[in-house]
Amino acid sequence: MTQYLFTPPAVQSLPIRGQTERFPINRIFCVGRNYHAHAVEMGKPVDKNAERPFYFTKSPQTLVQSGATVAYPPETKNYHFEMELVLAVGKPGFRVSADKAHEVIYGYAAGLDMTRRDLQLVARDKGRPWDLGKDIEEGSVCSEIVPMEGRIVDKGTIALEVNGATRQSSDVDKLIWAIREIIADLSQFYHLQPGDLIYTGTPEGVGAVVAGDRITGRVEGVAEVALTVGPAE
Ligand code: MN
Repeated sequence: MTQYLFTPPAVQSLPIRGQTERFPINRIFCVGRNYHAHAVEMGKPVDKNAERPFYFTKSPQTLVQSGATVAYPPETKNYHFEMELVLAVGKPGFRVSADKAHEVIYGYAAGLDMTRRDLQLVARDKGRPWDLGKDIEEGSVCSEIVPMEGRIVDKGTIALEVNGATRQSSDVDKLIWAIREIIADLSQFYHLQPGDLIYTGTPEGVGAVVAGDRITGRVEGVAEVALTVGPAE
C-alpha cells in the first residue's frame, strides 16, 4: 500500500439524483463566450464561422455543492455570477464525432461559474492566463448530477435570480456551440474521462454580488442551484 507523507486531498464529488453513490469529479472544463448576447456584453462578439470554441479549466478543488455559503473571495471588488448548464461525462471519449457525442454523456447539472471579473478582464486585456479570475476557491458551484444518459439537452430556460430578482434569463437553445459540438471539439484536445464536468457557458446578464446575497438559478428540465455569499474572510 502506498504511503503518503500526509493525507492526500479528498476526491471531490457530487450527489447523484436518485442514487446513493456520488459522482467523483475528474476535471472541470469551462467554455468561454458561448451565448452571443453574453459575448457582446463582454465586448467580444463571436463569429462562429471564423472561430472555434475556447476553454479554460478550474481545479476540481474549487468545487462547492449547491446550497453552500461561501466567503466573498479575496482580491476582488467585482465578484460575478455566471449561470450555466453543466455536462457530466460518464464514458471515455477522444476525437468523438458530433453524431456520437451523446454516447459520453452521463447527465447534467446546474452550475455557477463564479468569476473575479476585475481580475479576469485585466488578465484578458494583458494577454495573461485567466486563473486568478476564474480558478477561485469555492468558485465552481454545482447542483446534484441528474442522470440523463445519452441525452442531448438542446433547449430549456436557463435563469438566475439574486435575492429573488431575475438577473439572467435565456434559453439553452441559444448556445453558440451546442452540446454535440462542444463534446466533438473539446475531445480533439483531451481524452475526455468519466468524472469530467463541462460548464457550457453563460447567457447575458452577468453581474456582481456582495456579502449577504442569495443566488438561485435553474436550468429547465435539469436542476436548480443556490449559493449564499458570506462576508469576506
Ligand atoms: Mn462561464
